[in-house]
Amino acid sequence: MEGKPVLEQLSAYKPGKQVKDIQNEYGLSRIVKLASNENPYGFSKKVETFLTDNIKELNIYPDGNAGELRKTVADKWQVTESQLVFGSGSDEIVQMLCRAFLAPGLNTVMATPTFPQYRHHALIEGAEVKEVPTIEGKHNLEQMLQMVNENTKIMWLCSPNNPTGGIISKNQLHEFMLKCPKHVLIVLDEAYYEYLSKEFDPSAITLLSQHKNLIILRTFSKAYGLAGLRVGYGIADESVISKLNVVRGPFNTSSIAQKAAVIAIQDESFLDETLGYNVEVKHDFEKFLDQIKWGYYPTETNFILVKTPISGMEVFDFLLKRGFIVRPGELLGCPQTVRITLGQKDDMKELQRILYELEQQVSKER
Ligand SMILES: *Cc1c(COP(=O)(O)O)cnc(C)c1O
Repeated sequence: MEGKPVLEQLSAYKPGKQVKDIQNEYGLSRIVKLASNENPYGFSKKVETFLTDNIKELNIYPDGNAGELRKTVADKWQVTESQLVFGSGSDEIVQMLCRAFLAPGLNTVMATPTFPQYRHHALIEGAEVKEVPTIEGKHNLEQMLQMVNENTKIMWLCSPNNPTGGIISKNQLHEFMLKCPKHVLIVLDEAYYEYLSKEFDPSAITLLSQHKNLIILRTFSKAYGLAGLRVGYGIADESVISKLNVVRGPFNTSSIAQKAAVIAIQDESFLDETLGYNVEVKHDFEKFLDQIKWGYYPTETNFILVKTPISGMEVFDFLLKRGFIVRPGELLGCPQTVRITLGQKDDMKELQRILYELEQQVSKER
């Protein structure tokens, strides 16, 4: 059966190996997955209580408007309810954006490397993709602006950028928006927003009143630890949201996910705990990398892109055999790196021991 011709050039998302399969393949009793930037501390106990005690009415369709969640998020960020759209993860909002705004004859600008779903869905809609290499992991905003022409419809900014961690400050963003033509929709993907330290003025949201061509994407998958439930959201002017609502499926987030997200966003102590542990582990791991003289990109997230003395793929293999799953940079457009999710303290200590062993081997061969 033939699909759209462009599908021949693309492939389905290749999920990382399942933990069970790796355990069987290598005869390992325990696997630590540090490959998808999931929250190693789980999720709010309050959400867990809800999930074990309160699941009722699964025979009923969810609230297609996600009313309670909408109100909760609108209150949190002081925006109107009509400025919000919810998706089955922010992944789905990326898809909705492409579906609503891109078509053959139009083009879209993004960094490389960056989150791969922008490119994937843009190509499916038949748009031309213009990719601008990052500089030391940061978006080259000047160059990206120069790529814009009258057929440019979406500009993707990922901050902090996955996989490099590069950040666009609020000032840089504002300056950029003042220069960028208004017919271009700027998508600011802030999947790791919660991890940003407070010295970065976080509230790109305050730019929304001046800039109707901006949408900010957030997710419950990372710091809130709800990747398995699939819920994310976009904040933008009503004129953007109303287009997304047309392409959005009527019941695109489940009733359980909506309720869990409401509880999660109100449990600030779980979030603070996650962020506290994460910073501690980050500093410790950075110190270790300095000791073995491996480079890395600065990070304000729950992952770190490490520069490796051999190929990222070889580091990946070495770690996999010892029970740690990371992402080789070769698969992310950053050769000679690995992206490592910052895990729990004890696991990271064990990882350090293994990386030290690897560094000893590599330096002997140098
Ligand atoms: C993880 C991630 C997402 C997707 O998150 P979901 O809400 O789980 O779909 C989007 N953007 C970036 C940059 C991410 O790293």
